[in-house]
Amino acid sequence: MTTRRVFILQSVVGTSALASGMVMAAAPMVDEADGAAKGLGYVADTTKADAKKYPKHAAAQMCSNCALFQGKAGDAAGGCPLFAGKQVTAKGWCSAYAKKA
Ligand code: SF4
Repeated sequence: MTTRRVFILQSVVGTSALASGMVMAAAPMVDEADGAAKGLGYVADTTKADAKKYPKHAAAQMCSNCALFQGKAGDAAGGCPLFAGKQVTAKGWCSAYAKKA
């Protein structure tokens, strides 16, 4: 009986460790140096956007208030369909920015 309980306990612990491991292995962040990121002028910090190249950029524009951002409000990072399989920072920006309605 005791052995069985220990076994169940170990299974539960093992499963939750696996689950948290999966959360930690979330999609990687977009690298500003990536070809696709460079092409779109993506920066992880909206204040670092190239003002000369993108004169319409404003500091208030950021991924977290972009219509394409897939993260939830308050998330530090989230998906973006322009960078499939990767995450952009909530305070990032790219030239495809579209204000969330
Ligand atoms: S499209 Fe929007 S969410 Fe995606 S990287 Fe550009 S600004 Fe961020």
